[in-house]
Amino acid sequence: MSQVYLDGKFLPPEQARVSVFDRGFIFGDGVYEVIPVFGGRLFRLPHHLARLEASLAAIRLRNPHTAEEWKSIFTRLMAEHGTKDQSIYLQVTRGVAPRDHAFPPNAVPTVFAYAQPLKYPPAEQLTLGVTAVTTVDIRWQRCDIKAIALLANALLRQQAIEQGAVEAILVRDSVVTEGAASNIFVVSGDRLVTPPKGPYILPGITRDLVVEIARANKIACEEKPVGIEVLRTADEVWLTSSTKEILPITRVDGRTVGTGKPGPMHARMFALYKQYKQAFIQGKVE
Ligand code: PLP
Repeated sequence: MSQVYLDGKFLPPEQARVSVFDRGFIFGDGVYEVIPVFGGRLFRLPHHLARLEASLAAIRLRNPHTAEEWKSIFTRLMAEHGTKDQSIYLQVTRGVAPRDHAFPPNAVPTVFAYAQPLKYPPAEQLTLGVTAVTTVDIRWQRCDIKAIALLANALLRQQAIEQGAVEAILVRDSVVTEGAASNIFVVSGDRLVTPPKGPYILPGITRDLVVEIARANKIACEEKPVGIEVLRTADEVWLTSSTKEILPITRVDGRTVGTGKPGPMHARMFALYKQYKQAFIQGKVE
């Protein structure tokens, strides 16, 4: 594997060492980001850095780097993979301190980042759609923080996989929140609906882009609560994330969504998304 970044140094991964007393290891006390790189450019970098800033502020940790510093770290990591599409993973933890729940007074944040080639979903997931199951959203009340503590998300995703599905659609009090690692859109007729931002969902960068593209193209798109019955009767259901982009969900809990095939609204939105991505690669949009 190519070099990783750890606390100011670029190293082979086997030489990168973190203390067993790092609060990320002991408490899951840290936050992270995943940033896609298309055509050698960091996609929606300002949005990812703004979300990182919000996550850090929410856990009361100072941002260890300026935007320029982050960019130069990412650029060096990206160079290892040439022009391939990639994803950058970065995490910041509260650093090393004797184990105690209370914040250590002088801990220095641990900063870790690496780049890897982007693994796109298999082509048939786009052409046939994927299967999802609904599960009770067992997470906490600050799902808007991109926290490294992902035990609940991992349990929920695993539950979906063991039922033969690709994603878990999380439901809190009969209302859809998001996926275990994605945001959710439903389509009724020619209208898109996605759950509103708030403490129960991660403000997905791809979600926001889909909303932005919809509005720019006069596609009706509402950010409002999606009841479980709306999900059950939707013509189309999609999941969005930086690495999965916009994937159609064609079965939920064993029932067919709409016609059981990816729908026309997905085809339209995905074409617009790809157009946007192409314009970005060509430097025509930021
Ligand atoms: N919601 C959760 C819980 C996630 O983990 C992710 C991404 O990993 C998303 C939503 C989608 O966010 P983004 O589009 O920024 O990748």
